[in-house]
Amino acid sequence: VITINGLCKSFGELEVLKGIDLTIYRGENVAVLGKSGSGKSVLIKIIAGLLKPDKGKVTVLGKQIDKLNGKELDNLRLHIGFSFQSSALYDSMSVYQNLAFPLTMNVKNLTRKEVDNAVEEALEAVGLEDKIHELPADLSGGQRKRLGIARTLILKPEIMLYDEPTSGLDPITCTEINTLMIEVQERYKTSSLIITHDLTCAKNTCDRIAMLIDGTFLKIGVFDEVLNTNEEQIKKFFAYNF
Ligand code: ATP
Ligand code: MG
Repeated sequence: VITINGLCKSFGELEVLKGIDLTIYRGENVAVLGKSGSGKSVLIKIIAGLLKPDKGKVTVLGKQIDKLNGKELDNLRLHIGFSFQSSALYDSMSVYQNLAFPLTMNVKNLTRKEVDNAVEEALEAVGLEDKIHELPADLSGGQRKRLGIARTLILKPEIMLYDEPTSGLDPITCTEINTLMIEVQERYKTSSLIITHDLTCAKNTCDRIAMLIDGTFLKIGVFDEVLNTNEEQIKKFFAYNF
């Protein structure tokens, strides 16, 4: 569902991505690991069409994204759920409105009943049914993450992009979010790219992991294979993280 070939991206003098190659197959969860500032968020933003690549080819759901005009890109984005590093919720709106708003913005002529049903389904999927009338500010950190995920699910995406879904959460809540990501994959048949610093998350929720080091993927493979690689920089990364 995602194919990336020779992707490069710089900001002025700063070369962040220097030739990225990655394929994500339908139904697969792939984790991207790499140190802070290595360009993980930049990569995910390019896939979501929020940043333009300088060089290389990025194909998402059969569409080469740099060839799309604004309207085509908007259409493609409807199939991509983006869970932001900061949950990016509307703080002055209720939980219900946080979900109903993106739905009614993007799908025209829904009846009130259809909107209510969609909101209830998305909240049920993330286990927040009883919070429908609360404000985001009154939710815990883990619940806000769940709400952020529910908001992307409301449009029934084919691809989910998670930017550090478990950052800043305690270990138990991390495990719950990891379980939720697997449930989402099974229920919505999504393919996912998950950026994470959490090795347990990568190991338990992802089919493969990709190590972003110095602007390229030094290694892509199943968790144990990457963990046991002889590459110095990868050994160093895991040594610090275990
Ligand atoms: P973290 O783990 O801390 O979230 P990251 O791997 O997600 O880090 P990015 O946010 O992708 O890192 O940033 C990679 C580099 O690109 C950083 O040096 C950052 O300052 C730079 N960068 C990102 N976006 C822009 C931008 N819009 N303009 C200029 N520089 C940027
Ligand atoms: Mg980031």
